[in-house]
Amino acid sequence: MDGNMVHPIPGSGLAQTYLISDANDGLMVVDVGSVGAAQAVEDFCTHSIKRSLMAIRIIAVTHFHIDHIGGIDALLSKCSPKTTVLFHPLVKAYLKAGRPISPMRHWVTGLLPTLIASGFIGIRKWTDLAFDGPAGVPLALFRDRQFVSYADRIRYLEGNRLPRSRIGFGGWEVIATPGHTEESVVFFTEASGELIAGDLILGRKDGRGYVNRFCWDEDQTRRSFATLAETIRVRIIFPGHGPVIWSAEDAFRKVDCFGEVPAQDCSHKSSFDALVKSPSNRHTGESRYPEQSKYTGFRVKHGMTK
Ligand SMILES: [Zn+2]
Repeated sequence: MDGNMVHPIPGSGLAQTYLISDANDGLMVVDVGSVGAAQAVEDFCTHSIKRSLMAIRIIAVTHFHIDHIGGIDALLSKCSPKTTVLFHPLVKAYLKAGRPISPMRHWVTGLLPTLIASGFIGIRKWTDLAFDGPAGVPLALFRDRQFVSYADRIRYLEGNRLPRSRIGFGGWEVIATPGHTEESVVFFTEASGELIAGDLILGRKDGRGYVNRFCWDEDQTRRSFATLAETIRVRIIFPGHGPVIWSAEDAFRKVDCFGEVPAQDCSHKSSFDALVKSPSNRHTGESRYPEQSKYTGFRVKHGMTK
């Protein structure tokens, strides 16, 4: 049996890799973060769905971070020469024009929960931490190390077709969702309401999700989430880290605001409505949560302990 479906790849390491099978269009892989993840895709294709890696037409990427791209070369070397890597057009500027990749904020209050959600402590094999190279490390130190060995295999999304366009694989579309990084995108299929969310939304063990606080720009993140929640209907969210978030009516309702930080306004049931419906954050860019935006994690902590 091989219908149209998304498979979370078991044992893909730090970030979650997804494989999509389409009855007509073969296979597409989203986010291959390490050499171990590439191996996990191969194991899954060979043993679980009994498909050749030659059926992989596209390796797509939600954003240019090492834990989502660090195994692309390892996987590509086992695929057909026709397999392409799909990137946001900004990646071209990172690779060819020296444009710096998005600097990140909230390493402690944002990244740490992400690492815990992805079972960081439970990393199982050394290849989970083996990468193609240093590309996608969001630190100034690595600024001149942003290159990949498969430049000739990249297909850049067309900037003038974003923020939303078809990608030529089943009914799947790409939607630009800047926030976690400048070039972050999600993949969505209307027919089944499935969303591959990258690091915009992360999953928790209790089946709920939260908007990722480890990001380049919190206001952008909030706006991207609000726009998604208003424009598409989603039943299943496949997050970049952590378990799947599912709801028959509306999976966004199970996503909390920057969830791991228990800021007063954010941690309750109303957080969804606050995020999506607040006129202030949409129209003026002003945040309803001043204690969370425009300040560093330190300031947040300080406010909380008072
Ligand atoms: Zn990331």
